[in-house]
Amino acid sequence: MDTILVTGCAGFIGSHVCELLLAKGFKVIGIDNFDPFYNRTLKEQNLNNFLHHAAFDFYEYDICTDLDRVPEADIKAVIHLAAKAGVRPSLQNPTSYIHTNIVGTQQIQDFMLKRGITKLVFASSSSVYGNNKKVPFAESDVVDYPISPYAFTKKAGELMNYTFHHLHQVDIINLRFFTVYGPRQRPDLAINKFIQLIKYNKTLTLFGDGSTARDYTYIDDTVKGIYAALQYCMQESNVYAIVNLGNKTPVTLNELVDEIYRVLNKQKNVLFEEMQPGDVDITFADITVAKNLLNYTPTVSIEEGLSKYVSWLDDNQNR
Ligand code: NAD
Repeated sequence: MDTILVTGCAGFIGSHVCELLLAKGFKVIGIDNFDPFYNRTLKEQNLNNFLHHAAFDFYEYDICTDLDRVPEADIKAVIHLAAKAGVRPSLQNPTSYIHTNIVGTQQIQDFMLKRGITKLVFASSSSVYGNNKKVPFAESDVVDYPISPYAFTKKAGELMNYTFHHLHQVDIINLRFFTVYGPRQRPDLAINKFIQLIKYNKTLTLFGDGSTARDYTYIDDTVKGIYAALQYCMQESNVYAIVNLGNKTPVTLNELVDEIYRVLNKQKNVLFEEMQPGDVDITFADITVAKNLLNYTPTVSIEEGLSKYVSWLDDNQNR
């Protein structure tokens, strides 16, 4: 069976991707440096779900410095998810984002060239659309106005990947994820924070007037899209594509919060504060390309996804 290298394998999305690949019969080499952006214990918990699978090998390596140490193996494709994630912290420390997300992506490309690997699926982001006014966001839209360092590192990754494809005929799909949520979600993401505060009857602070909206995508839908992109990349040649993986259904902050209060059966208790710099007004994916190219159709509504996530949190009290 083919071997796939997954970077960021201990993270939220990476751990789900590894599990799916192992279930499909792939061999997986996973790399993660347990970046201190959030608690190492949470990442170890993610990893423990498949760490001892016979077809999984884990290396605690940094993509920026350690890729030469990856053992020689017939790696067929790379799913590159490792990154400094998070919009707001990127304003405080842009250099570290440039290092991991841009230099790190270059290191991945150098590694692929050295090892003769010609298939790449890359984690980009809806943040590249910045505050574009035209919705839904389509891959053909101009994305020259990112409003956070995180966003420009993701746009840079897409550009670097185009050059890599052009010069070395590597097949590449850049996937623009739209606010992914569900079991193992990063602790810094809004849905997770809100649930924790509401559960313990704390006041919620909301930035803006509640009218900002996000195209929340349930993790299972995102992971299905990543798998479809991998398959497409591996089967086809001369591939360079940018693909939105969203839910095509923006939900306002007010709607989201109301739904969480409903699911948790709690009394609403919110405060509004000014919008935070770097935050965009809306994300809204046009998923026509994903549907046509990858046969991607998200199936989990926000109501269903939130209920599933809350019951997972109930079963995993340490999260
Ligand atoms: P995450 O932080 O849970 O996972 C990223 C993983 O990469 C972490 O485990 C981290 O330790 C690892 N990592 C960071 N720097 C590394 C390095 N130098 N070397 C090796 N490993 C390193 O984040 P996530 O939410 O799972 O995001 C995965 C990818 O998807 C990221 O590229 C992120 O930018 C992108 N993305 C996520 C979302 C979302 O809503 N979660 C939205 C858009 C894009």
